[in-house]
Amino acid sequence: MPKRNDLEQKALHYVVGTGYQGVLQSDLWRELGASSREGSRVSIKLEEKGLIRREKELQEGRWTYRLYPKRLPASIETIVDCPCLLCPDNARCDPTTALSPKSCPKLTDWILNLGKEAPAIAEGPSADVLEPSMPEDDSVAESLDT
Ligand code: SF4
Repeated sequence: MPKRNDLEQKALHYVVGTGYQGVLQSDLWRELGASSREGSRVSIKLEEKGLIRREKELQEGRWTYRLYPKRLPASIETIVDCPCLLCPDNARCDPTTALSPKSCPKLTDWILNLGKEAPAIAEGPSADVLEPSMPEDDSVAESLDT
């Protein structure tokens, strides 16, 4: 049986790798060779540390959790359209001069439009999405997550 810290690291690495899609808790534990009880404890720990987000999800008539990373590593795709990369004023641009990123409209527009096409991962489900019959404590969801 892997140590819990090892399992936490592996689980976090796997969840981060799933990106915006996330992964069903049961699929993750199968992938890592852990029991569902062990896996539930680790996912709760990762959530408590603020590293992942868990959302209840109905799968084949049973409630389980889908795990999402709270943060994703930056990729080159996220800056490929930054206006500074091809800006003719790049060499002269400096925060201490009149030509500054602090007051650049092109950069401001780019920043304000960041993430408008990507789904939000920091948001949880709104209360009206949750049904009243959903389990409220982890022991219920845990027992269903086989
Ligand atoms: S902040 Fe504006 S002016 Fe400066 S390099 Fe970027 S796009 Fe060019």
